[in-house]
Amino acid sequence: MSESNHYGFMLPDELVLLRDQIRRFMREEVKPIEDKLAHDATVASPEDRKMLKEKAAAMGLTRLTVPEEYGGNNVSAMARVIIAEESAKCRLGGYNPALGAFGGGPPNIIWSGTSEQIEKYGIPCVEGQKRAFVAITEPTGGSDPRNNISTRATKNGDHWVLNGRKMWITAALGADYGIIFARTKDGTENAPPEITAFIVEPTFPGISFNEIGVIRALSPYEIVLDNCEVPAENVLGEIGQGFGVAQRWLVDARIPYAAGCIGMAQEALDMACGWVKQRAARGGMLGDKQAIQWMIADSEVELRAARMLVYDAASKVDSGLPGKVDASICKLYGTETAGRVVDRAIQMFGGMGVAKEMPLERWYRELRVKRIGEGPSEVHRMVIARDKLRNTDGGMYFG
Ligand SMILES: Cc1cc2nc3c(=O)[nH]c(=O)nc-3n(C[C@H](O)[C@H](O)[C@H](O)COP(=O)(O)OP(=O)(O)OC[C@H]3O[C@@H](n4cnc5c(N)ncnc54)[C@H](O)[C@@H]3O)c2cc1C
Repeated sequence: MSESNHYGFMLPDELVLLRDQIRRFMREEVKPIEDKLAHDATVASPEDRKMLKEKAAAMGLTRLTVPEEYGGNNVSAMARVIIAEESAKCRLGGYNPALGAFGGGPPNIIWSGTSEQIEKYGIPCVEGQKRAFVAITEPTGGSDPRNNISTRATKNGDHWVLNGRKMWITAALGADYGIIFARTKDGTENAPPEITAFIVEPTFPGISFNEIGVIRALSPYEIVLDNCEVPAENVLGEIGQGFGVAQRWLVDARIPYAAGCIGMAQEALDMACGWVKQRAARGGMLGDKQAIQWMIADSEVELRAARMLVYDAASKVDSGLPGKVDASICKLYGTETAGRVVDRAIQMFGGMGVAKEMPLERWYRELRVKRIGEGPSEVHRMVIARDKLRNTDGGMYFG
């Protein structure tokens, strides 16, 4: 174990090295490019993106999450959370962890596809030549996808025909393909509806995109599927097994999602500490005031607790244990904690906290989304409570 203090957590040496490498890359390479961008811009110029990708590749920071047989490093879940936490401190890393660089690669579920699908859709993402979206949510609701997905897929000869609408799909426009989940069989009293995953390209007939403006700069999209024709070989996984595919995607994404939120909030708290030490306030500095110190103390404690939950979930996944409930726990607590910490940081900065020249108000808006995306807090509470009730007998006095 290393002596390095990771905000209260002792990381093994190799993860300290990885963290320091990412941190240096974000500070020295990514932040200067971010500083040139307009306040809300989420994408750097093509030249800057190319330059960043090349530098990241030279440092061995690309392909971190790609399986070894496809030329990747397939790093542990623990390494992924370190990468997410550090890279989210810069908005380019937070919005676009792939950047072609950080944990770059396609949605993990593509690796369970056929060799042709991997060749056509997986590898080009690794090479930075293609980008993908994942579309589960619909206007009928996203919290209960198994029952809410009503986009219909019907087989017609050598292709499937998709009809329906997807909502709130991140980075859909301009992507080279998307994994779209559709209903292939209605449910009965005893069986839920069957869902199937399809790989859909924007050039297929019958697909269109509409931007949805939201609280943050990076817009999601509505996707309209109007007799959209998808070749039969573009079914991802087994027909009718799409819900399991969606679950794999969601559970895998939630732990680094929470880590990214913690990274943003930690940066906000660190900024606030720098500020209160040099801001004068009635006979001293802001940092001397108990009201301010309590905000700092509460934020530090809550962030450490949130980080422990993230690391705990990641280490379970790395040990091959089921991580679904742990992922819900750290997603819930990580996103809610990060929102509170950024809110306090804004308060400590006063007017400057909401000024556009600072990243705080952007983080504040972004973190509001994080309590809804990847499943709203209430649904995660439901998952956690159900698991607790199922596995708890009443304890020593009531069991
Ligand atoms: C910016 C953004 C980007 C997104 N990107 C994607 C994407 O790339 N791909 C994708 O598929 N989806 C994406 N989503 C969709 C997101 O996953 C859904 O918004 C989320 O799952 C909630 O679904 P919903 O909005 O339909 O809300 P609903 O399901 O209608 O729920 C509304 C609210 O009701 C409450 N609620 C719901 N169910 C329960 C329950 N059982 N018990 C108690 N309360 C409950 C919650 O407070 C919830 O917020 C994105 C959303 C946003 C805002």
